[in-house]
Amino acid sequence: MVQINLLRLRQSRTLALTGSVGQDSEIWAGSGLKFSGAVEVTGTAALTAGGGVIVQGAWKAPLLYECGRCLDELQVAVEKPLALVFVPAGEWEGSDPDVRPIGDHDTLLDLEDAIREEILLEAPRYYTAAEESGRCVRCGDPTDRFKSGPAEADGEVDPRWSALRALRTD
Ligand SMILES: [Zn+2]
Repeated sequence: MVQINLLRLRQSRTLALTGSVGQDSEIWAGSGLKFSGAVEVTGTAALTAGGGVIVQGAWKAPLLYECGRCLDELQVAVEKPLALVFVPAGEWEGSDPDVRPIGDHDTLLDLEDAIREEILLEAPRYYTAAEESGRCVRCGDPTDRFKSGPAEADGEVDPRWSALRALRTD
C-alpha cells in the first residue's frame, strides 16, 4: 500500500512517504510486467497552498525479463524518480495527464494507480543482457550465435527456434 493520510498532511504540511506494492498485487494484472519482488516507493508529500499535494521521490521495481537475445530470465532493478501532482477535484481540468484529482472528502490519498501508470510508462518493455567480448554476460553463450539466426547456427538448432523453423516455407 502506498497512501498519504491527508488529515495528517494538512496538519504537518509535509510527510515522509514510504510504501510498497507487492509483486502479486492485482494492479499489475494485464500490465505485461513481471516482478521478482515488491515495488518500493520512497519520497516526501507536501501540501500546496491551494490544497493540492505534490509527491517527490523515487520508485524501485525488481523486474523480470526474458533476455531479448537468449531468452534467459533476467532480473533487472529499475529505479526512477517519481513526481506526482494532485489538485482538489474542483480545480482539476483533466487535460493534463500529469495532474490528478483529489476527491473533496478524501482523507486518504491512494497512490497505487498513479504509481502503476508511472511504472508502465517508464519501465522498459524488453531487455537484452549486455555483451562482453562477444559473449552474453548472463549465460556466456557467444552472442553471434543469436545474431546469425537459426539457419546458420552450425547445424545445431536451438530448440527454441524450431517452432520458427517449422514456419519457413523454403
Ligand atoms: Zn544470454
